[in-house]
Amino acid sequence: MKVVVLGAGIIGISTAWHLLEEGHEVTIVDRQPDAALETSFANGAQISVSFCEPWAHAGAPLKVAKWLLRNDSPLLFRPRLDPHQWRWGLSFLMQCNDAAFARNVQQLVALGRYSHDSLKRLVARTGIEYHRLERGILHFFSSQADLEAGAAGAELMRQFGVDRRVLTRDEVLKVEPSLAGFAANITGGTFTASDESGDARVFTQKLAQLCKARGATFLYEHDIVGFERQGRAVSGVRVGDQLTGQTRTLAADHYVAAMGSFTAPLLRQLGVYLNIYPAKGYSATMRLKEPQRASVVSMIDDARKIAISRLGDTIRIAGTAEMAGYDQTLDSATSRVRCEALVRRYEELFPGVADTSEPNFWTGLRPSTPTNIPYIGRSKLANLWLNAGHGTLGWTHGAGSGRALAELMSGRQPELEFGFCGDVEKARTPQVAVA
Ligand SMILES: Cc1cc2nc3c(=O)[nH]c(=O)nc-3n(C[C@H](O)[C@H](O)[C@H](O)COP(=O)(O)OP(=O)(O)OC[C@H]3O[C@@H](n4cnc5c(N)ncnc54)[C@H](O)[C@@H]3O)c2cc1C
Repeated sequence: MKVVVLGAGIIGISTAWHLLEEGHEVTIVDRQPDAALETSFANGAQISVSFCEPWAHAGAPLKVAKWLLRNDSPLLFRPRLDPHQWRWGLSFLMQCNDAAFARNVQQLVALGRYSHDSLKRLVARTGIEYHRLERGILHFFSSQADLEAGAAGAELMRQFGVDRRVLTRDEVLKVEPSLAGFAANITGGTFTASDESGDARVFTQKLAQLCKARGATFLYEHDIVGFERQGRAVSGVRVGDQLTGQTRTLAADHYVAAMGSFTAPLLRQLGVYLNIYPAKGYSATMRLKEPQRASVVSMIDDARKIAISRLGDTIRIAGTAEMAGYDQTLDSATSRVRCEALVRRYEELFPGVADTSEPNFWTGLRPSTPTNIPYIGRSKLANLWLNAGHGTLGWTHGAGSGRALAELMSGRQPELEFGFCGDVEKARTPQVAVA
C-alpha cells in the first residue's frame, strides 16, 4: 500500500518505521525541517510504563480547583471562549471517578507493556543509541501525607499488575545516592525498576534517518493545509511547500494522522472530531558541571510534579501543564515563571551540579485526551487512520503505538487488550465521535 504519514514526531516516525517493516511504501509530511522538532523535542525523557496513571481520578477536580489561581501550579486551566476546551474539560470531569480510572489504567498499562516490548525489539534490530538508561524511575516525596498517597497508589497499581515498590528514605538514597544532600526533605519514595529513560528527539531523528535509508520519502517544510474527500474516503491531502510557496495534492491508498495536538483542528475539516486539547509543558536542559554528583536514575519530584532525567552530560527537568490553547511561545510572563521554577528547584535539589547560567528552555504541547488514552486505529473514513492524543506518555507509548497501527493497517489485530478506534466490538471506550 501507498501510505502518507502526516507528522514526523515520535508517533509519526514510529508508525512510518513499522509500516516499512510491513512492506508498505511510505511518504512522511511535516512542517519542520527535521523530525521531532515539536512536542517530541525535549520532553521528560521517561519511558514510564509503570507510572502511567491518568490525570483524571476521583480526587482530581478538587486538586485542580486549588491550583487554578497559582501561576506556578503543576496544572493550570485557563478558561477560554473555546468550545473545544470546554468540551475537553467536561469530558475530563466525567472521567474523574473510580470506574473510569480503572478502565483507563488497564488500557494504559496494556499499551505501555506492548510499547516497551516494541521499543526493545526496535533497539535490538536497529542499534539506535539515544542516551538510554535502563535504571528504573524513582518517585520521591517530601511530606508524609504525599508518601502515604504514593503508597496507596502503588498498592492500587499492583492490582493492575504493576510492580511499584514503596521505599523508605534510606532505600531512596540507595537507589539514587546523589539525593543525599536533600535527604532531610525526603520522606520516602516509590520505585519501578523496569522503567527507563532516553532522549526522544535523538531516537526519533535517528529512526527517521533509518526510514529514509529504507526508501521512505520525506517532505519536510511542508504544511498540511487541507484534505480532499470522496464519499467516505480521503482522496488527497493538500500540502504547501514552504520554500516554493506552492500547494499540491498528495494521493495515496491510506493516510495516517499523527500531527500531535494539531490533529484535532486539522481533521475537523473532514468531519472527524477528536477530543484532543493541548497541555503546554516546559523543560530546562542544562550542562552538568559536576556529572559525578548528578543523578543517573530518572526521577519524579512529587512536591513539584517534575521529571528529572540524565541525558549524557546534561540534565533535563520537565513538567507542568497549562490548558490554555495552542500558544507555543516561551517569552510570556507565565512561561518565564514556569521555566525559572524548574531551574530553581533543580538548584535546591542539587546545588552547584549543573550550569544554571544558560539553561535551554523549551515548551511543547502535549496532545491530551480526557482519558489519557490515545486514538489509535481507523477513523470513520475508510482510509484515514489515527495515531494521536498520546498526552503525557507519547514517548513511552511511541514504539508500540506505531507498531499497533501498522499491524491494524496490514489487517492484523495487535496482541493487546486496547480500545482501538474503529474496532467497535473490542473498544471499551469508543472515542471517535461521528459527525
Ligand atoms: C514537558 C513535557 C514532558 C513530557 N515528558 C514525557 C515523558 O517523560 N515521557 C513520555 O512518554 N512522554 C512525555 N511527554 C509527552 C510526549 O512528548 C508527547 O506525547 C509526544 O511527543 C507526542 O508525540 P507526537 O508525535 O504525537 O507529536 P509531535 O511530536 O508534536 O509531532 C507532531 C508533528 O506534526 C507536525 N505537524 C503538526 N501540524 C502540522 C501541519 N499543519 N503541517 C505539517 N506538520 C504538522 C509537527 O511539526 C510535529 O512534528 C512530555 C511532554 C511535555 C510537553
